[in-house]
Amino acid sequence: AHFSFKKAADMMCLKIVEADLDENYKIDVESIKDKITENTVAIVAIAGTTELGLIDPIEEISEIAHENNIYFHVDAAFGGFSIPFLKSAGHEYPEFDFKLPGVCSITVDPHKMGLAPIPAGGIIFRKKEYLEVMAVDSPYLTVKTQSTIVGTRLGASTAATYGLLKYFGRKGYSKLATRLMENTLFLKESLEKIGYDIIVEPELNIVAFNHPTKSPQELSDELEKINGWKVSVANCPEAIRIVLMNHVTKTHLKEFLDDLEKLY
Ligand SMILES: *Cc1c(COP(=O)(O)O)cnc(C)c1O
Repeated sequence: AHFSFKKAADMMCLKIVEADLDENYKIDVESIKDKITENTVAIVAIAGTTELGLIDPIEEISEIAHENNIYFHVDAAFGGFSIPFLKSAGHEYPEFDFKLPGVCSITVDPHKMGLAPIPAGGIIFRKKEYLEVMAVDSPYLTVKTQSTIVGTRLGASTAATYGLLKYFGRKGYSKLATRLMENTLFLKESLEKIGYDIIVEPELNIVAFNHPTKSPQELSDELEKINGWKVSVANCPEAIRIVLMNHVTKTHLKEFLDDLEKLY
């Protein structure tokens, strides 16, 4: 999970209990069942993990949360602007949203695949009550209550997000998401052809890979030396991690792959 959960838990004096992962780095559903106690206030699962872009078994977790009457939050900050649009383009993904009765809230980050400017962030709630329990009176303002931590804040990124939604529409976002997946598969298959090890089959637009003998840090340093590439080294699992966002083109990928071939 994203480090933001540590901040939230710290602010609310909650203890985070981490679920085990299965061999594909997704939440092991059985371990959630084992870890639920009468003190459990919420369960969190991720639709598009920051490190690998994987989607946790949200359908199953929703069922557990629903049965046990526990709040269930889905973090689709990364995947929220891709999964629905890839689905409408014919890709298959399990359900991750309010169709599942256990899902209470979902974060969706317009500033990632939504192409909106930072700091556009989004959270949607199943019921208005969830916002109301967080509300604080704001007597001298036009709105009588506020449910957020920050007070006065910029509306520009929200306006930009609205503009982008209107501009791209479902079709536009579907096209963008499809192109990202094409680039992702192109990179993954080309890396395999050279001989690099792919950590997991990509589900969204992230490819994590390793050289058979060099450590990710060594390879990252060599990439920087050879052509100034700055790549991210993931920790869990240790690997070079490439997020194929919209500004990354096929041409970039080909140049990158040429250098990776030289360093192989
Ligand atoms: C990016 C991300 C976040 C945090 O979003 P910011 O808007 O960058 O703070 C949370 N969860 C996941 C899975 C993310 O990828």
